[in-house]
Amino acid sequence: MYTGPLRSLIDELGRLPGIGPKSAQRIAFHVLKVPGEDARRLADAIIAVKERTTLCEICFNVADSGALCAVCSDDRRDPDVICVVEDPRDIVAVERTGFRGRYHVLGGALSPLDGIGREQLRLRELLDRVNQGVIREAIVCTNPTIEGEATAMLVARELTPLGVTVSRLASGLPVGGDLEYADELTLGRALEGRRPLEV
Ligand code: ZN
Repeated sequence: MYTGPLRSLIDELGRLPGIGPKSAQRIAFHVLKVPGEDARRLADAIIAVKERTTLCEICFNVADSGALCAVCSDDRRDPDVICVVEDPRDIVAVERTGFRGRYHVLGGALSPLDGIGREQLRLRELLDRVNQGVIREAIVCTNPTIEGEATAMLVARELTPLGVTVSRLASGLPVGGDLEYADELTLGRALEGRRPLEV
C-alpha cells in the first residue's frame, strides 16, 4: 500500500532482527515525522558503524578502525586471565560483572549442522595468544547450550596441554539461554563459582 522511499524504508526496517511489519511501519512513520537533522544523524550513524568499526586484531572484540578494542588498549587490565566468549555482545554482559581480565571472541560455537567446526572458530588465534606465554587461565563463557558446552570442551582440550587452567562458568545460568541476556548478579556468581574443566 506504500510506494517509493517510504516503502523501501519499511522493507529495510522489516529486515532487521526483532522488527516485525507493524514495528517497521511505526518506525518509518516516526522517521518521516522527525526533523531532517535527526533523520540524518540516524542515517550517518548507520553508515559510520559500517565504515569505521572493525574487529580488534588481538581479541576480535569490536573496535574503531585501525585501533585495538577498549579492553586490549587498557594497560590496567589483567593480562593473564582471559574470558573466551562466542560473540562480542557477550563481552558487554561479562563487563557488567566487573571482570578485569581480557577476552577472546571465538566468533560462534561448534555446530556441525550449521557447518561450524573447529576451523570456523578463532581457535588458532587463541592458541597463538596462549603460546606467547602470558595467559594463565582461560574462563570459557560460551552460552549454556549444547553447542556452547561442546565448544568449552574443545577449548579445554586445546589449551590444557599448553599449561593453561581452563575453567567453565558454574551452572546457574538458564540452560539453553543466551549469555547476553543474563543479569549481572547471576553471571557474576557463575564467574565466581567457575570450575576447572577436566579433559
Ligand atoms: Zn581486543
